[in-house]
Amino acid sequence: MPLNILIVGAGVCGPALALLLQRSNPKHTITVIERFPSLRTGGQQIDLKAQGIPIMKKLGLLETVRSFCVNESGMEVVDKNGTSLIRFGVTGAEAERGAFEVTNEFEFMRGDFVKMFHDVSLEERDRLRAGGEKDGGLRYEFGTSITALNQSTDDAVNVTFSSGEQNTYDLVVAADGQSSRTRRLAFGEEAHEDAFKSLNIHAALFNIPRIPSEDSLARLYVAPGDRAVMTRSGDRPATQVYLFVTKNQERAARMKETHKLPLDKQKQVWSDIYADAGWDCPRFLAGMQNVEDFYATEVAQVKMPHQQVHKGRVVLLGDAGYCPSAFTGNGTTLSLIGAHVLAGELAKHGSNVDAALKAYEDTMKQPIEECQKLSGLVNGKLFPSSAMGIRIFNSVLWTLSSSRVDKLLGWLAGFLPQGKEKGWELPEYS
Ligand SMILES: Cc1cc2nc3c(=O)[nH]c(=O)nc-3n(C[C@H](O)[C@H](O)[C@H](O)COP(=O)(O)OP(=O)(O)OC[C@H]3O[C@@H](n4cnc5c(N)ncnc54)[C@H](O)[C@@H]3O)c2cc1C
Repeated sequence: MPLNILIVGAGVCGPALALLLQRSNPKHTITVIERFPSLRTGGQQIDLKAQGIPIMKKLGLLETVRSFCVNESGMEVVDKNGTSLIRFGVTGAEAERGAFEVTNEFEFMRGDFVKMFHDVSLEERDRLRAGGEKDGGLRYEFGTSITALNQSTDDAVNVTFSSGEQNTYDLVVAADGQSSRTRRLAFGEEAHEDAFKSLNIHAALFNIPRIPSEDSLARLYVAPGDRAVMTRSGDRPATQVYLFVTKNQERAARMKETHKLPLDKQKQVWSDIYADAGWDCPRFLAGMQNVEDFYATEVAQVKMPHQQVHKGRVVLLGDAGYCPSAFTGNGTTLSLIGAHVLAGELAKHGSNVDAALKAYEDTMKQPIEECQKLSGLVNGKLFPSSAMGIRIFNSVLWTLSSSRVDKLLGWLAGFLPQGKEKGWELPEYS
């Protein structure tokens, strides 16, 4: 049975699902709405790994992704003078989940990935039309969001849009990111608030011009006072700067309010916090003043009560339903797994949409759990905050580096699986 489907959010997994749905049933009518006036191609480096690789291979897009990889050559931890303490290489994309890695085989800019899915989904529509398909179709609407959802019958959702227009759909997919408004409308304020689990970490991200001495390694510097800085350049002309403030509860409460301030005020707060941090921070802060692509966020996970990811005919996809946070490095892969399973179960269950949604919810439990596991590092077991603690931390890193036992470091950080655990296997769908 072809369905009339509304996808809310043209980020990573909204357009990916649109492509998968067209491939599984060209007669579906698919509308993707995006709150922003155009495709939102901002964001920094993201990666693809584990089950994300076979999904991209199946879609025939893995080599396209390889063509825009940023070619980062590994990661180095440095001290306050920029001296290297330890270096890690590149991890193969199909390595066991949990292996200690920062740089993966498939590292690319978020905007390139979003644009690829958007463009390929439209090419698929045009290909189907050119092949004689008259039913169904796909369209994107920008500058549109939803203001109300009404599920007065079991098999339809009535949607009110920001324009005041109304329409009825067989299925509404919330792909509108970690703060999903669709989740709030469908599940209610309480479940929405409950689901948002802050990690007490705040991040500011921006790009500054690359300087000639910068190579293709990512660099991490842990500063006293629960601060950490990371830079990534790969083979790009710009250097991505990530500033983090971690763990500090008092400062975290202040940061929550900071995200609501105008950009220049936000930048001032971050400048004040990082003024005495050491390493190249004066250069990063000076560069930050001129950037327009400054993006600051609270790092969080989304954990729905009882892992419920659908209510009636509204279903959560990607960060909206199970954001694992950037600190797991699994956000992109998990959102693609979600799109693959949702499209697959809808195809498998034919006209029984409710059975498909139940199967999607059940199937996603294990990958969500695996992808949301946080390392000891994020849980605060590894990064010290005092100057003395950092000196000890740095000398431990240096010792580990000279004995080349980075696996041990990974184990200490809680990245490596502590026993032999069989990971979730991607279901095959026709
Ligand atoms: C601007 C931006 C920058 C990012 N940068 C990074 C990064 O540097 N590193 C990283 O690891 N992850 C980043 N992410 C998150 C990353 O894209 C996701 O964790 C992951 O890829 C899963 O994607 P998603 O499609 O579920 O969500 P997202 O990629 O967040 O996409 C959600 C989409 O929904 C749209 N949207 C939101 N609310 C509404 C609404 N009410 N109505 C209609 N549309 C709506 C958003 O504008 C966005 O286009 C960023 C996300 C965004 C939006």
